[in-house]
Amino acid sequence: MVTDPVCNMTIDPNDAVDTADHDGTTYYFCSQDCADSFREDPEDYV
Ligand SMILES: [Zn+2]
Repeated sequence: MVTDPVCNMTIDPNDAVDTADHDGTTYYFCSQDCADSFREDPEDYV
């Protein structure tokens, strides 16, 4: 299980709607909205 850094929800990586790489770490997102928020300002969420 991994944590969506935007909403802090615990999700199964296989169920992630989207992923993003930042500073060599892969982040998983529960929704496209969370992924979009992360991409807008990743430093806010790491
Ligand atoms: Zn989320």
